[in-house]
Amino acid sequence: MHPYPQFRLIRLDAMAAVGSWVSLLAFIIGVGLSAFSIVEVEVSFVLFPFLAFFFFALLHFSASFLHRCPKCARHPTVQGFTSVHDSAKSDRGLEGWGRVVWDVFRNRPFRCIHCGEEYVARNAA
Ligand SMILES: [Zn+2]
Repeated sequence: MHPYPQFRLIRLDAMAAVGSWVSLLAFIIGVGLSAFSIVEVEVSFVLFPFLAFFFFALLHFSASFLHRCPKCARHPTVQGFTSVHDSAKSDRGLEGWGRVVWDVFRNRPFRCIHCGEEYVARNAA
């Protein structure tokens, strides 16, 4: 297990991705509540998560291209249409770039989805 050299960038990347997931969920809940008129929903309860989602998604998208795996020089949170490395596969439900994001967010070791190298996203010292 190696320290990830650009650990601040991958942590920012992971925080932004989780932020986009949470705001997307809040947006879906807000739309659902207002569509079925379960409760009276203020416009800001739907608009704010919608804008937050775009902010976090754009931040995640930008940050994900700013750091590279030192071994394979590819982006661990950019999957594209390539298959995930065998050792980076998980049987815990989440797989691929989402697994990397979730592991980094929880401050756990993660594996590069392209080469399978294991890292920790924190300072080596
Ligand atoms: Zn790699």
